[in-house]
Amino acid sequence: MITRLPFSKYLERIGQPALRNVHGTVTFAPEQLISLTPEASGSDRYRHTVRDVCQVLGDAVGAGKQLRCLGRRWSISPIAATDGWLLDLSDVSTAKWLSREELSPAAAARDEVAYVLVAGGASIRWLNLALHRAGWSLETSGASNGQAVAGAIASGTHGSSYHIGALHDTVAAIHVVVAPAEHWWVEPARAPLVADDFAAGLGAKLVRDDEVFAALQTSLGSLGIVVGVVLTCVPNFWLDLERFSVADGALPGGALPVTELIDRLARWQFDTLVGHPSDRVWHFDAVFNPFSPDSQSYVSAYVVADQPARGTPAEVTGEHRGDEWNPDLLQFVSRAIGGVPGAPALVTRVGLKSEYAKPVSGGPRVWGAWFAQQDLPGGALGASLGVDCTQLPAALLAIFGTVQARATVPCVVATRFVPGSSSLLGMNQFPRTCMIDMDGANVPAMADLIAQCCRRLETDGLPFTMHWGKWIGWLTREHVQAVYGDRVERWRAARARLLPDPAVAQTLSNPVVDGLLR
Ligand SMILES: Cc1cc2nc3c(=O)[nH]c(=O)nc-3n(C[C@H](O)[C@H](O)[C@H](O)COP(=O)(O)OP(=O)(O)OC[C@H]3O[C@@H](n4cnc5c(N)ncnc54)[C@H](O)[C@@H]3O)c2cc1C
Repeated sequence: MITRLPFSKYLERIGQPALRNVHGTVTFAPEQLISLTPEASGSDRYRHTVRDVCQVLGDAVGAGKQLRCLGRRWSISPIAATDGWLLDLSDVSTAKWLSREELSPAAAARDEVAYVLVAGGASIRWLNLALHRAGWSLETSGASNGQAVAGAIASGTHGSSYHIGALHDTVAAIHVVVAPAEHWWVEPARAPLVADDFAAGLGAKLVRDDEVFAALQTSLGSLGIVVGVVLTCVPNFWLDLERFSVADGALPGGALPVTELIDRLARWQFDTLVGHPSDRVWHFDAVFNPFSPDSQSYVSAYVVADQPARGTPAEVTGEHRGDEWNPDLLQFVSRAIGGVPGAPALVTRVGLKSEYAKPVSGGPRVWGAWFAQQDLPGGALGASLGVDCTQLPAALLAIFGTVQARATVPCVVATRFVPGSSSLLGMNQFPRTCMIDMDGANVPAMADLIAQCCRRLETDGLPFTMHWGKWIGWLTREHVQAVYGDRVERWRAARARLLPDPAVAQTLSNPVVDGLLR
């Protein structure tokens, strides 16, 4: 059932003066909030959702309003913002395994994986709970779990599972409403997923097309309303977290200068750092104090444990791990100390130490227990810059130098590693991409610092992508064109095939997409 609320009524209901994203970096005022209420469960709920989304899209086109689907408001950028209609699918979550009969012969023959069709509005947290209980797991996700599945994919959410890729690289098919009376089941032609009659059973048009699929892998919310996503799952696996303070000589191989650490990161020699064969290190990241990387950096390896056995069912709460900084406190401190010489560096040192220098607790955990919910008091600001790993040493030195020269705000630099993607606008477009995360408080000095780092990378001739769902204040049409090259035109061409009616394409756009990609 479709429920519509004028924005003023919605604000009354939530008791807030404005609608903000979770970090408070974006405030927006849609004209109307539209939510879907479940009338049934299981496959009927899924069908009703498709029907209702078609109707809402038709109404929006008829009324000349822009329509944006909301995930969980976790994007720091205004990628989910609109002053038109905002559609919330969070109450109509469903998930279903695709049976052998529903799969193509090639997909059905793959015993080592399973395929789950999950509603676009379902949260990663909800999915983790259900999958782990059934003995299955996502292969990767972001480091937290509060996003909606479709929201996470639309903006390119990634972790650091360097064998696998970003979440969009584990997608096997996408079911998307593209017109008031038309929805497509899209899968790559190179890897057909479902049996030939499956899509028709949903009333969908079966489209096997590598290019359209590659565009939808990072849709930026503008290629239709995603009602279902098929994710590839693997049997539950357990990971031990091993964390090393590099400057303290704690790595298995002993002391290592930071230049050598970065050199090995650039070459993906993670196994030589942590003393485990590469195929046992599922997720790897390195964190630096940019004010003094020689004296403070940490390496974390999530290593596959021998026990429990793969595929054993597990219960996860998906709750907060309790080891993150409090962004509200950080925001307060960042404001207070901005002008005090040496204070941003000191706060960064103390904060990093409190989070990373303590012993790692507990035994092995499944994916959804490690990468779990965070409390979201707001107040944080971050960007992810995707660079080609061959240029990682130069990029990190440029960023460290910029942070040290300005030194106006506490800031942490983290590196995560993602193989290249078929996704046209995924940030992991280099064969080996390092996502350099810059995180700090949501204060103007932090946005200014990120912008200065972007400027420096550009001046030094180091191309970089930016996470669409994080701070994107540096992005321009020219930058996007320069770094993605012909992929931009291919994304636009795929959009023209998905949404041939310009009225529908404009309905599904928003200022970010208009500004950067129109
Ligand atoms: C605490 C926190 C931790 C984070 N950690 C990570 C991390 O580890 N790795 C990482 O890569 N990112 C991370 N992010 C960024 C986050 O993953 C992305 O911004 C993600 O897009 C947010 O998902 P969402 O469901 O909240 O989507 P929203 O922010 O609500 O929306 C994102 C986009 O998806 C579109 N969209 C949503 N649903 C649909 C649909 N059904 N159909 C079509 N379009 C849709 C929206 O229109 C919008 O364009 C983090 C963010 C926060 C706040």
